[in-house]
Amino acid sequence: MEWTPDNSNQDIEDRRDSSGGGYGGGPGLGGFGFGHLGIGGILIVGLLSLVFHQNFFALLSGGGGSSVGVDQSQSQSQMQPVPNTQQDQAETRDRGLIGTVFHSIQDNWSTILPAQMNTPYRHATLVLFRGATNSGCGEAQDATGPFYCPEDEKVYLDLGFFDELKTRFGGSNGDFAQSYVVAHEVGHHVQKLLGTEAKVTAAQDRNPSQKNALSVAMELQADCYAGVWGNSAKDKFKLTPADIQDALSAAAAVGDDHLQKMATGRVSPETFTHGTSAQREAWFTKGYSTGQVSACNTFGGQ
Ligand SMILES: [Zn+2]
Repeated sequence: MEWTPDNSNQDIEDRRDSSGGGYGGGPGLGGFGFGHLGIGGILIVGLLSLVFHQNFFALLSGGGGSSVGVDQSQSQSQMQPVPNTQQDQAETRDRGLIGTVFHSIQDNWSTILPAQMNTPYRHATLVLFRGATNSGCGEAQDATGPFYCPEDEKVYLDLGFFDELKTRFGGSNGDFAQSYVVAHEVGHHVQKLLGTEAKVTAAQDRNPSQKNALSVAMELQADCYAGVWGNSAKDKFKLTPADIQDALSAAAAVGDDHLQKMATGRVSPETFTHGTSAQREAWFTKGYSTGQVSACNTFGGQ
């Protein structure tokens, strides 16, 4: 996959400087400024919070006092803003990739949706956060994984999760595995624009016994839509079979995006599934090979 970084903030809400412990940053509150720590310091504090499951931001503002399992000298040195650490570089690279991929996804759907479905495309917003942040569907936490919230039409992405994804599922370099995840979430946005999400939610309310089967069909369709975008972007990014394998590995391995759990709070892990690995791969491939939204009829039997 070949790409050039795109760090523009068009349709992107960067809350990484304000996340990290239930900060209630709603739209517009996230801002793009950096606190007194500097971005390096914030990233490190965020990372520490992630690793030690402690809110180091609160510790800083509150003057500290509780034991966090790190000795004083270590925490002091790690609190200093240190530019160009490995984490900084990885996150800077991720940010550039996310920007270029997210903009390509929205650009291409702006063409695909009117052309194939006679439906205008409305831009979604991508929220980048660390730790925790508020969403129209409840609080987003790093443990939640990436998800799309239909209430506010925003995709929530925690960069800590993103980095882990690359490490675990990036057969070649992981770039397209990450791209697939973003495209899957925007696929849920497309489902909202096409009215699929509303229909499925209503059908699930009418017919609770079908609830799980319907969510599986929704997830597989989002995989297929990710493939449709992949088809439209393969020349721009010079996608190779190894890139597609990355996406398939991620599709097979990434767990649910907790959309339902966040929306209803009553989906239990044993009943919620995205479909089998084979199904996910098959539907991504179907979208990728055809480039057709109509090929993604996961509700009509396979
Ligand atoms: Zn999903």
